[in-house]
Amino acid sequence: MTDDPREEVCRLVRRARMLAAAEREAGVIDLAGTPAPAGPAAESGVPAVVGTTVAHATVPRPATPRVTPSQSQRPAATAPSSPTATYVPPRETSATSAAPAAPVRSLDLPNDVLAPFGGLDAEVAACRKCRLCELRTRTVFGEGSPTARLVFCGEAPGFDEDRTGRPFVGASGELLTAMIEKGLKLRREDVFILNTIKCRPPENRAPLADELLACRPFLERQLAVIRPTVIVALGNPASRALLGSVPGIKTIRGQVFDGFGAKIVPTFHPAYVLREPTSKRDVWTDLQTVMRLLAGPV
Ligand code: SF4
Repeated sequence: MTDDPREEVCRLVRRARMLAAAEREAGVIDLAGTPAPAGPAAESGVPAVVGTTVAHATVPRPATPRVTPSQSQRPAATAPSSPTATYVPPRETSATSAAPAAPVRSLDLPNDVLAPFGGLDAEVAACRKCRLCELRTRTVFGEGSPTARLVFCGEAPGFDEDRTGRPFVGASGELLTAMIEKGLKLRREDVFILNTIKCRPPENRAPLADELLACRPFLERQLAVIRPTVIVALGNPASRALLGSVPGIKTIRGQVFDGFGAKIVPTFHPAYVLREPTSKRDVWTDLQTVMRLLAGPV
């Protein structure tokens, strides 16, 4: 709470937007005038992935995403059996109380961490290929290790990301960091975190098909450089951007797909987990799958 009524109104508006975004992310609501979240393949008819050669690396054309149920059905070999054993989510205050979210800490990344991308970050920063360039404050290239074996892919930058130029800050970022550090026992800087598009859509609406299509080469080129072993698709829009036309996240989570030369594990977006704490158990199950895939052949 604050004594300044204008600041209080701003806080309430931000909170309402966050809750609406969480609902939309989960496919729970579809706000009037808000395009239904769908990937470029679903809306434009283009393939889910288009092969792209960058810096001596070629993104493998992912075959039609293939479910690998055998992996998802196997019991975890080494992961703890209880979600509460190691996965300690952040305070419940993030999305449901008046307290502002704690900022995600700065990463201690070396200055040349983006060098392997060969100037791609500068290309993104200068990009004007779609209408989203008009309203952005900053592009959000993504951050982490360019040699990460694990990539987290979200939908699009939000308010805080647009201001800071960093992916997943604010309440969702705090929870994602907890998933990485307390759930997976990794450091945030050891993975790579990015979004399907690099500029914030106005009012946090879902990206439109032509915006996803315009920005897709950047995503492909990033993944071509990183060459991750596992990609975690956070929520419906990211899953559809990576996998094409697939059912909703509640249907496909728990399964493992092939794409971009990696295993793709869809799970709930942190914003949805903040809204629906009961989904933490499913997310924990998906993190166990990630750990198993990172551990090697199963
Ligand atoms: S969203 Fe992507 S394609 Fe559109 S202006 Fe931003 S960087 Fe360029």
